Amino acid sequence: MGEVVKGQCKGMCGVKANGKPYRVLIVDDSAFIAKQLSQILISDGFEIARIAPNGAVGLEVYKEEFQNIDLVTMDITMPKMDGISALEKVMAINKNAVVMMVSALGKEDMVKRSISIGAKGFIVKPLDRDKVLIRIASILED
Ligand SMILES: [Mg+2]
Repeated sequence: MGEVVKGQCKGMCGVKANGKPYRVLIVDDSAFIAKQLSQILISDGFEIARIAPNGAVGLEVYKEEFQNIDLVTMDITMPKMDGISALEKVMAINKNAVVMMVSALGKEDMVKRSISIGAKGFIVKPLDRDKVLIRIASILED
């Protein structure tokens, strides 16, 4: 684990104390956001386990692979199954799941609801590299 110094992630915040990367499942229907998120995370040592284009696929992947997934980033607005429903089902599979919601501006009610369901935090689009890494590092430290 790198450390957060003066609002920046110094070193590789995506690497665990044992030297292995945190494995991330990205659930997002926007290929652009998914790519941006993966680039940000990979640049800090994380490994992308899978990218799922909606909540239904994300849930299937999580069900199969949750033992090898350290973190889920979950978009809120998606077809087939939205992020709130997928979050509920993920938490039912693993009550210790670490889920970071990814929200558009102005979705405060959805964000509050997801935190009450068990999400550990949220990041707001448009994505800012440093903010994304700091927020993720802080929920992984808990
Ligand atoms: Mg979306």
